[in-house]
Amino acid sequence: MNPLKILMIGPQGSGKSTQSKLLAESLKIPVISTGEIFRKLSKERVGFGQIIRTILEEGRLVDDQTTYTIVEDRLNQSDCRKGFVVDGYPRNIEQLRLFDPHFDRVIYLDVPEQELIRRLMERGRSDDTDESVKRRLELYYQQTQPLLEYYKKQRILIEISGMGDIQTIQDEIKKRI
Ligand code: AMP
Repeated sequence: MNPLKILMIGPQGSGKSTQSKLLAESLKIPVISTGEIFRKLSKERVGFGQIIRTILEEGRLVDDQTTYTIVEDRLNQSDCRKGFVVDGYPRNIEQLRLFDPHFDRVIYLDVPEQELIRRLMERGRSDDTDESVKRRLELYYQQTQPLLEYYKKQRILIEISGMGDIQTIQDEIKKRI
């Protein structure tokens, strides 16, 4: 099979990280999660780490320039030559304009909003406060959701229901890519 460049897209709480990891493992390709990259960076006590930490805690987005540079850099590393799963980029139209990884497949995990809120409250990650959860969902519907139209027009969008158990969803993804 040709190297597959895959984007996993969906709101916070849709299960995109879990599904990205499982898929990448089975295809033996790396998963590039911008959320994880930023959470790691936020642990640096000074300078840049501090700035990122505040942004994560407030549920805002890291600026587009910084984000695209980090992603482009990472995708240019040699392990990505055999394909990759990206979890979390692009998050808005501007990021896509700055750097488009030219995905072959875009998997959209669809989960109703009430269910997302329920899951996010249960998850209790340190950056999951009431306010930040609300802001991240708002940002998703305003800025990320519009990207789906773009991928639909390219005919690479695969819509998957994110309701149900993890393995069933993963099987459905594998069947449809
Ligand atoms: P996630 O794990 O995908 O929910 O991402 C966690 C946090 O990392 C987000 O709330 C943002 O603050 C930041 N982040 C992740 N991906 C991006 C991106 N593409 N652009 C800007 N900020 C991002």
